[in-house]
Amino acid sequence: MLLIVFLLLNPQKIQDRALPSIIDTDSFQVRNPVNGKIYRCPVGSPDYTPPELIDKDFSTIDQTEVHDRFRLAVIIYQLLFGGQTLFAGKWIGAGVIPETNELIRQGLWLYAPNSLIEPVDRTIPLEIVHPEVQRCFLRCFNDGYKNSNLRPTAGDWVKALRLAVNELTICGKLDSHYYSRTYGKCYWCDRSTKLSVDIFPGFVIPKQQSAFAVSTSQPQAFTNVPQPATSTNIYFSFCLYIIWMLLCVVFWYSGFFGWSILICMGGMVIIVSVASG
Ligand SMILES: [Zn+2]
Repeated sequence: MLLIVFLLLNPQKIQDRALPSIIDTDSFQVRNPVNGKIYRCPVGSPDYTPPELIDKDFSTIDQTEVHDRFRLAVIIYQLLFGGQTLFAGKWIGAGVIPETNELIRQGLWLYAPNSLIEPVDRTIPLEIVHPEVQRCFLRCFNDGYKNSNLRPTAGDWVKALRLAVNELTICGKLDSHYYSRTYGKCYWCDRSTKLSVDIFPGFVIPKQQSAFAVSTSQPQAFTNVPQPATSTNIYFSFCLYIIWMLLCVVFWYSGFFGWSILICMGGMVIIVSVASG
């Protein structure tokens, strides 16, 4: 089996379409599948090196897949949290915050037990991602700190991330905001309100009428619509019209011309009103 360890695993290997690229192949550690000889790699990416290898001479060490598990977890963290590092917070230890490699060596990060780094307002919290993804990070950087075999494998990440993707939903306000149903609300909206900065700006989604609003508003609307004339109204109006015209004729032949015209005009107004309901 040809085992390759990607010692220089880092975000520069990720293209703008989020596709991993295989470049710098001279920095791979390769084992010859025929005779088992290992061709070591003497270099590595400082901020992605697992704690047990910090300050070690890579040219004398045979690295394994568990070392790459640490590098993979760091990159996934940065991809999911907008480039944020494991240490994006406030240092509450003595003096100034140590170099990244020293933090890794001590197992310190935002969510380490007794961490000396506290989240700040701009820190994107771990709890916004799916619980399975949270567990993978905790397993890698906490449980896997002393026992590297406990770090999640690439396969573990695939399972967790698939679960997380299935739980994603779009925000009701901006078309560029997605959040996990497990978190229950749009973190990006809350964050932009709090910090006045939106790292995922998008277009405002027009407000849709809810199903409830539609079901209750329709009957109210119909009550204001004029009702069409019914056959009963038309029949009654016709009878009234005949009686009224007879009354006009009687007045006309009795010599009351003015009254006849007045009754005729008034009658027409009343009949039209009755006919229209
Ligand atoms: Zn939102």
